[in-house]
Amino acid sequence: MELSDSGLGMFFRAALDIPEIPFGEMLWESAQRFPEKIAVIYQGQKMSFRELDGLVNSFANALSKLGVKKGDRVALFMTNRPEYIIAVYATARLGAVFTPMNPTYKEEEVAHQLQDSDASVLVVQESLYPRVKTIRQRVNKSLKHVVVIGQQAEEGDSLFLDLIRQSSPKHPPQVQISWTEDLVALPYSSGTTGLPKGAMLTHQNLVANAIQFISSGRITEQDSMLICLPFYHIYGVMLVNGALYSGATQVIMEAFDLELSLSLAQQYKVSLYYAVPPILLVLANYPNLSAYDLSHLRYIMVGAAPMAPEVAHRLQEKTHVPIVQGYGLTEASPVTHLNPVDQGQIKLDSVGLSVANQEQKIVDPETGEHEMEPGELGELIVKGPHVMQGYWKAPEETARTIRNGWLYTGDIARIDADGYVYIVDRKKEMIKYKGFSVAPAEVEAVLFQHEAVADCAVIGKPDAESGEIPKALVLLQGGARIEPEALMEFVGSRLAGYKRVREVEFVSNIPKTASGKVLRRVLIEAEREKAEAQ
Ligand code: AMP
Repeated sequence: MELSDSGLGMFFRAALDIPEIPFGEMLWESAQRFPEKIAVIYQGQKMSFRELDGLVNSFANALSKLGVKKGDRVALFMTNRPEYIIAVYATARLGAVFTPMNPTYKEEEVAHQLQDSDASVLVVQESLYPRVKTIRQRVNKSLKHVVVIGQQAEEGDSLFLDLIRQSSPKHPPQVQISWTEDLVALPYSSGTTGLPKGAMLTHQNLVANAIQFISSGRITEQDSMLICLPFYHIYGVMLVNGALYSGATQVIMEAFDLELSLSLAQQYKVSLYYAVPPILLVLANYPNLSAYDLSHLRYIMVGAAPMAPEVAHRLQEKTHVPIVQGYGLTEASPVTHLNPVDQGQIKLDSVGLSVANQEQKIVDPETGEHEMEPGELGELIVKGPHVMQGYWKAPEETARTIRNGWLYTGDIARIDADGYVYIVDRKKEMIKYKGFSVAPAEVEAVLFQHEAVADCAVIGKPDAESGEIPKALVLLQGGARIEPEALMEFVGSRLAGYKRVREVEFVSNIPKTASGKVLRRVLIEAEREKAEAQ
């Protein structure tokens, strides 16, 4: 039942009961309820809930033997695979904290996250192991063990399979967990400004958000879900956890591949398909869509970046499958808004209604204090059990982002008379390239390392295919000459592919405030005007 209380832009959904169980036990509960049901399908291999739960116990016992204890950080560096799920829940069962890393990270990015999070164990797939070896010396102080998923590990490191084989599949001793205070996940986010930082997510945060997400028939035990979105992003973690807790079967893809995704959807009678806007675009443009039997699809969910309603409409016309948009952010574990799938209207241009157990407001984007009139634009702020504790080792950023328990999303939105929310702009610096968040400050820091660069600013340039592309405005040192491609290559060789600068414009001045802060908004507006004029 929807309850809307006021003309002040606050809407509530009927409250959900959220069980106070530690995150790691969500899978244990499902293993009791659906022991023989298939939990995971990966490259044709099937694994039941009972088998998965046993492997989680074995790996938890192995990590415990390696010395992992409550509060320790365990870094995960791999593409989507069952070992990811096993490592996440095993870490959680020990009361430790998993910190996921993007498998496209280059050496510097890996070193940074390992150092910043003080991870004591790293679980890495064999193909990414060489990147770790290169930076090993630098992180040796905190990093005690490396576990390799594959056939070979250097002396002192361990193989995942050996550890599993040598450990008991019995549940490890229960750890005393403070549900509201103990962390379980530390995903990195670019936040409002500055460099990427760890979002401190508690057991309560992840358990609550899973239940906020799956409620109202969004996922049931009858569902078969196709997951091609990366597990290292909190959107992926939410899908995996939502599937496991509901008793649904998840069909995992290592990475997105259009035709493979469609044939898997057909083969496994997939009922739920999860996408980001660029995937939706590829699906909508694919001429061979009707060759696949997608009749089991209940809906396609899309989120993580702005979606063009025309694209969703076109895909819906072709497939007759409802497209359901959602919205969230790492700092909210992540989902905060969803279109309804049970009853109620789906609005393609809206990110939907507030999830249950959440309060929301639209406030003055300048002061962050006064609530806007109904229908007016302002910054969206939310409050609830899924809001992070704060940023890891960044109290100032935390104080800016969470005020009186309200999470300032950095997104500009409005709410319509039915309570549907529309995201219309982004106030924070973050660039979204194909749904991946890029912190301009991180790219600028790399550009500044180039001797030809005197000053620079990185902004998002609107792009039909990717949403936005990172574009650099560069002021060269007096007398310096360099081709834009050389600068792009310089950044590309140091940062993950999605952070690559895809356009360089040489300028004679970077506009700044009196205190020296880049006037990013001015640059973004100028870029938008240029795009509109074309
Ligand atoms: P991340 O923490 O990487 O998930 O990024 C969160 C940010 O992505 C949000 O604050 C928004 O700026 C953007 N975002 C996520 N979902 C949507 C959506 N459906 N529409 C528009 N922007 C979105």
